[in-house]
Amino acid sequence: MIEKVVIANRGEIALRIQRACRALGIKTVAVHSEADRDAKYVKLADESVCIGPAIATASYLNIPAVISAAEVTDAVAIHPGYGFLSENADFAERVEESGFVFIGPKPETIRLMGDKISAIEAMKKSGVPCVPGSDGPLGDDDAQTLRLAHGIGYPVLIKAAGGGGGKGMRVVHTEAALLNAVAMTRAEAGAAFNNDTVYMEKYLENPRHVEFQVLADEHGNAIHLGERDCSMQRRHQKVVEEAPAPGITEEMRNRMGERCAEACRKIGYRGAGTFEFLYENGEFYFIEMNTRVQVEHPVTELITGVDIVREQLLIASGQPLSYKQKDIVLRGHAMECRINAEDPKTFMPSPGRITQYHPPGGPGIRVDTHIYNNYMVPPYYDSMIAKLIAHGDNREQAMVRLRIALSEMVVDGIKTNIELHRDILNDAGFQGGGVNIHYLEKKLGLQ
Ligand code: ADP
Repeated sequence: MIEKVVIANRGEIALRIQRACRALGIKTVAVHSEADRDAKYVKLADESVCIGPAIATASYLNIPAVISAAEVTDAVAIHPGYGFLSENADFAERVEESGFVFIGPKPETIRLMGDKISAIEAMKKSGVPCVPGSDGPLGDDDAQTLRLAHGIGYPVLIKAAGGGGGKGMRVVHTEAALLNAVAMTRAEAGAAFNNDTVYMEKYLENPRHVEFQVLADEHGNAIHLGERDCSMQRRHQKVVEEAPAPGITEEMRNRMGERCAEACRKIGYRGAGTFEFLYENGEFYFIEMNTRVQVEHPVTELITGVDIVREQLLIASGQPLSYKQKDIVLRGHAMECRINAEDPKTFMPSPGRITQYHPPGGPGIRVDTHIYNNYMVPPYYDSMIAKLIAHGDNREQAMVRLRIALSEMVVDGIKTNIELHRDILNDAGFQGGGVNIHYLEKKLGLQ
């Protein structure tokens, strides 16, 4: 078993990873920026190392500083969490070259999945359904581009192969607009991602976002933990997530989950991962794979009883998966609200001091957060400060528990989106289940 882990992240996920390490008797090293010096999880870690100033490029994204922290503390492995360096193949490679274990897939897998064109190609080969599209980069032949779009049928989406964070894509409704849109997306992608490769996909007009959680070990075993619905989004950012996804039958879950597990076996995947799909008219279309733990992993943990971060640590220690597919039984329903330090109307970040914090509790309630009374939310990072998660025997009970928890939760001193979550939980459409990815923006009057 790995003896000591550097947690190359901050906030709630740094604390979450620390807890999993402690449960396995693994020593922890918190690396932190100057802005996070006083964080509670930094104090709770066995050791801590300041890796640079507040600005993330100088600290949490500073590869030599993170690796040096592992060297000076004699750590064995590095857990990247989500965001920051978690999907950076060069980082994973440098970690391994420096003699440490990267808690995640092999660098070449991260690279394969980081390029959307190669990811789609790998998925197609493994029998995972993808969005109809150009099956490769768009070339210089305009006539060919026009023919492709005609074949796929408008509207089409022009996407950057190296895109991310919902950026680098453009919807095209008419043939007249196509070539200009390709040129513009290409120019933007070149500037933003240093890669001007673009490709074309059918634009799905009213899909849901449904994703499958997988776990795979080094010994060729791979299982799925069912799906999550993350359709409640604003600007491609997930706001509420739930598991299982409303309306997905056991037959569909087993069929798609097994395809994802089989794809993991085929590409030699290692660790925890997520296959993201758009789901429309009963069909799944792969859009991308996330090669790391996700923000929304707790909803899957609550319905399966599997500790996903613990499994990541065991897999990285070279152990076989603790579960076989037949051991995975879904129980009840879980729902997560991302609590952000932001203005509930304008969505502007609202950093500052938390003067009062009262966490909710009760049956089926889990709060993953690093905040406390008098905690200073720094202005430099993502605005998510907590995840409020409810589990119930069914979707109704999970929603009742979440509603009560939201009514109890107090975070004073800064603005938060708790009120927005209360509204969402009282929304008839949301309560009905299965709304599409445009629903929240329409409700907010943003579309
Ligand atoms: P990123 O890596 O930037 O998150 P994704 O490929 O995951 O890019 O797409 C982000 C979002 O864009 C999706 O969640 C979905 O809302 C929308 N999207 C992507 N591909 C399509 C498509 N073919 N049709 C409709 N919407 C899409």
